[in-house]
Amino acid sequence: MNALKQEIAATIAHEGPMTLEHYMGLCLGHPRYGYYMTRDPFGQAGDFVTAPEISQMFGELLGVWISEAWRIAGAPSPARLIELGPGRGTLMSDVLRVARISPAFLNAVDVHLVETSPTLRAVQQRTLADAGKPASWNADVTDTPPGPAFILANEFFDALPVRHYVKTIPGWRERLVGLDPSGELAFGLSEAVETSLKVQAREGSIIEVSAIAQRIMGEIAARLVREGGALLLVDYGYTETSLGDSLQAVARHAYVDPLAEPGEADLTAHVDFAALARAARGAGAKVMGPVTQAHFLLQLGIERRAQSLMKRATEEQGRDIVDAFERLTGTQDPRRHMGELFKVMAVTHPDMPDMPGFIE
Ligand code: SAH
Repeated sequence: MNALKQEIAATIAHEGPMTLEHYMGLCLGHPRYGYYMTRDPFGQAGDFVTAPEISQMFGELLGVWISEAWRIAGAPSPARLIELGPGRGTLMSDVLRVARISPAFLNAVDVHLVETSPTLRAVQQRTLADAGKPASWNADVTDTPPGPAFILANEFFDALPVRHYVKTIPGWRERLVGLDPSGELAFGLSEAVETSLKVQAREGSIIEVSAIAQRIMGEIAARLVREGGALLLVDYGYTETSLGDSLQAVARHAYVDPLAEPGEADLTAHVDFAALARAARGAGAKVMGPVTQAHFLLQLGIERRAQSLMKRATEEQGRDIVDAFERLTGTQDPRRHMGELFKVMAVTHPDMPDMPGFIE
């Protein structure tokens, strides 16, 4: 049993079963043993590869979009350029490089990285050391200074803990993590029935609720309505709220049992874009999309960008560019191609006109 599992088992023995939300929060964010707190999980040698790590084209196009959003919002100065969950800092580094073609934007913004992990903060610091723009770090988006905000979030919302409810004959019961007779972690159900859930479904159905993600989205949307700005969010997930459980644990590019080695595997859930859009609209913000990542990147001109990079590329680099283009925009093989599974959604001040990437 690893140290985090021992700690969780002791807590359950003492206080009773914990919610999946609590369990997931510990696995990812436990100060000593949490998955993101202790390692850099990205890349071929790590557990998974994200779009900014596949190609600079991804960050460059997001950078073009966010600086354009700033210009259309009236070029406010000062403004904040914020990234949620920046991983290795690669996306922000590509954004800041491409933003040099828009010096007024670069001069107006100060850079904030919202990151809980000290390990990843150190990696981000190294990546951004030569970016030509100082950055500061915050643990929570609500800690960033006020003012118009231009916010990027790639694969951030999928890392936020979810709750599960399972339909039983008397009603919906919350899925809990408890102990089996041998003292191993095991899923079980709450005694109490959740009376606020009115959804009709067959026995055994599961509802996944992203309460933390919805709360964060509501806070961001309220800020954008109050102070202006835009959030661009990219993640894998579904467009319509639906029944089912999308919790997954990944270690070394393979699926593993989410209870087997807490803190050693990445735990994520698909993003419920419809629920996030409702939370944003509920706060008075405008929502664009979600559209597929393929739609968004193609509309922003990833093909032209790939062609221009090809002109200066060696044969090997050329193959990498073609491969990256296919992985980012392809739709045939969901295990390799991100074009369809990943969606892009923007949340903005209500006065923002429709932006490139989201035109039908
Ligand atoms: N955007 C990066 C990394 C995605 S992984 C990329 O695309 O490569 C998720 C990131 O969110 C990690 O940096 C992780 O440490 C951070 N993170 C997870 N939960 C967080 C939370 N509650 N608050 C702030 N950052 C969080």
